[in-house]
Amino acid sequence: MANRKARGLSAEDEFPDLSQHKNHMAKFLTQDMYVALKQRSTRSGFSIDGVIQTGVDNPGHPYIMTVGCVAGDEESYEVYKELFDLVIEDRHGGYKPTDTHKTDLNPDNLVGGDDLDPNYVLSSRVRTGRSLRGFCLPPHCSRGERRALEKIAIEALGSLTGEMTGKYYPLKSMSDAEQQQLIDDHFLFDKPVSPLLLASRMARDWPDGRGIWHNEGKTFLVWVNEEDHLRVISMQKGGNLKEVFTRFCTGLGELEARFKEKGHVYMWNEHLGYILTCPSNLGTGLRAGVHVKLPNMSKHPEFEEVLKRLRLQKRGTGGVDTDAVGGVFDISNADRLGFSEVELVQMVVDGVKVLVDMEKNLEKEEPIDDLMPNQK
Ligand code: ADP
Ligand code: MG
Repeated sequence: MANRKARGLSAEDEFPDLSQHKNHMAKFLTQDMYVALKQRSTRSGFSIDGVIQTGVDNPGHPYIMTVGCVAGDEESYEVYKELFDLVIEDRHGGYKPTDTHKTDLNPDNLVGGDDLDPNYVLSSRVRTGRSLRGFCLPPHCSRGERRALEKIAIEALGSLTGEMTGKYYPLKSMSDAEQQQLIDDHFLFDKPVSPLLLASRMARDWPDGRGIWHNEGKTFLVWVNEEDHLRVISMQKGGNLKEVFTRFCTGLGELEARFKEKGHVYMWNEHLGYILTCPSNLGTGLRAGVHVKLPNMSKHPEFEEVLKRLRLQKRGTGGVDTDAVGGVFDISNADRLGFSEVELVQMVVDGVKVLVDMEKNLEKEEPIDDLMPNQK
């Protein structure tokens, strides 16, 4: 923005061309709103341009309606409320600025979930994100801040015991082959190749300050300084989502306690739940998903409609920007906010059962009409 004032350029002159765009941000950001928000800054210096850059540079995405904006710090959601409130309402099924969010991390409240057919469900995974209050988020943090956060995380993670005893592997000291193996085995985040991530500026200084911690069995994993400060993951082969969710809740609780002992709390409020970098992850930050074989169902003309009614989303098996291979999809909850963790996992458990039943019918060349769900 160096010479903007000297050149006599107004906020209007800086308004991005969003005419070809199809994302939530572009849908709501008017020139008037931009001009008003351009006058503001968060205390750490995150501007409206930082908020929207990823959505300006990425007009659309083949699979998902992208959000098109990110937060640079906890305050961003407050300072740029006019934009974020509309994006959040649109992305999270009508969630209003006055709504309050609920948390339920008690796995005993989940009904079933230990019985997904392993002939179809290859692996199960639950992840969330957490941010440490007082630190800028990845699109805006400084190198030193990122390293300081990494240090705090290593200390907290290093004090976990029992099934959760593990080790931290900084990306910097990993060989290319080791890193690629972890990615191929679905344990580690991809290299920052996605234009969505790059344009948000969260991949600056890569791989500095990034790494993965995991327990010995690689069933409980924590990513440090990728898209969020922390991504906490529980996963295993097969279809026992109940076991995966139970480990997730236990590990998450223990980790939070370790941070608290050192005086660190997570970004959280009653309205937005857990505060994360991408507005699509607010609330629970939870994505519970399975890799499931649906070679027939995925070709059925009602596939999209069934997913929509079950409040589920699909991805490729290599992650968010990949295609499905051999009819295997990553099927997960579409919602994050306004539903509790248990409710979201329940939707995946119940929904995946429906999809697998449909797949079995189609294999036998039988119709799926009587399995068609109502809109949840
Ligand atoms: P996230 O929501 O955690 O950011 P991504 O779509 O970016 O998820 O995928 C991250 C990695 O996690 C990818 O390697 C992906 O294959 C893996 N993954 C996601 N869901 C599952 C699952 N159910 N089983 C095994 N691996 C999974
Ligand atoms: Mg991701």
